[in-house]
Amino acid sequence: MEHPENSTEYAGLQVNAGVAQPSIVNPYLSRMRKKRQKLFTPAEYVEGILKGDVSMLSQAVTLIESTLPEHQVIAQEVIEKCLPYSGNSVRVGISGVPGAGKSTSIDAFGVHLLENYGGKLAVLAIDPSSEKTKGSILGDKTRMEKLSVHPKSFIRPSPTAGSLGGVARKTRETIILCEAAGYDNIFVETVGVGQSETACHSMVDYFLLIQLAGTGDELQGIKRGIMEIADGIVINKADGNNVDKAQLAATHFRNALHLFPMPESGVLPKVMCYSGFYEYGIDDVLKMIFDYIDEVKKSGYFQHRRNEQAKYWMYESINEHLRNSFYYNPVVKDMISTMEQDVLDGKKTSFVAAKNLLDSYFETIKK
Ligand code: GDP
Repeated sequence: MEHPENSTEYAGLQVNAGVAQPSIVNPYLSRMRKKRQKLFTPAEYVEGILKGDVSMLSQAVTLIESTLPEHQVIAQEVIEKCLPYSGNSVRVGISGVPGAGKSTSIDAFGVHLLENYGGKLAVLAIDPSSEKTKGSILGDKTRMEKLSVHPKSFIRPSPTAGSLGGVARKTRETIILCEAAGYDNIFVETVGVGQSETACHSMVDYFLLIQLAGTGDELQGIKRGIMEIADGIVINKADGNNVDKAQLAATHFRNALHLFPMPESGVLPKVMCYSGFYEYGIDDVLKMIFDYIDEVKKSGYFQHRRNEQAKYWMYESINEHLRNSFYYNPVVKDMISTMEQDVLDGKKTSFVAAKNLLDSYFETIKK
């Protein structure tokens, strides 16, 4: 039989009628959309927080993270009212590159802390990249399986506000609310890349650096100056056939630490090996942290560091407000791209362009 393609009647490629594509937006979404969070008065939030009501605490933190001016007004009042009840916790910063084992370790440290030392634990995070990843990198509850279901823990992922300064401020303000809610231990997790560890360091009493053996991180750490701000260095994954390597890395760190000037605290940072996954050496790490806290409380450095941090945050806050006031100013917004182009075209120097913008800004705020 002749093949149908050879027939003159063959119409070539048949195009079937298409099937209508469903809308990419779920038509029932508007019905599913959550009702707007009910707002309480600042006094109601404060009352709930002081009672240790986790739901009220979470909602108040959401207001801190919100960019809506009406939320910010309430949030600031809540923070101010909580301030007298804050400051009574031990704040520990935990940093390490992705994969160092931060979440595994925080899970192990956290559960061990709650089971053996009592109290309550809040885990917060500073991750300025979380805007892109929707906060999935740090603080995600599923990454801390045991801790996230522990009744005495409160885990909050990183706020997702753009700039590092903004993210860090929100985390710092969240610390205040958590302390007012009776959390006597606060862990602040941060990725050990970029500037976020410096921001984290500026709000904690103890800064723990998690390292791995044999990844060359030892030297990177030294180069990037993180070691200077670490109050303790721990080598994770000291398990299986990695124990010897971990111990060797610890020796390298101990030797390297002697090359740095003595920290302001007067306490030489300790170096330890542990395994977050197999939970070896967890208590030793916690003891190392609490021994340090006892020592600096006695020497007066603990309070000194907190005072310095309070001062730092006052100036940071001023800087942030000034920056926002400038960049959100309508006149500045109108001018800035033209000025930028003038600089690129060589029509104006950077300094003249900056001065023109600032002059226009000051003119508008005088009015
Ligand atoms: P993070 O990115 O720093 O939070 O690291 P994770 O906690 O997600 O850990 C990264 C990977 O290392 C995971 O596959 C963990 O199971 C593994 N890991 C974490 N801690 C240990 C440990 O103590 N020993 C071993 N062998 N693996 C670990």
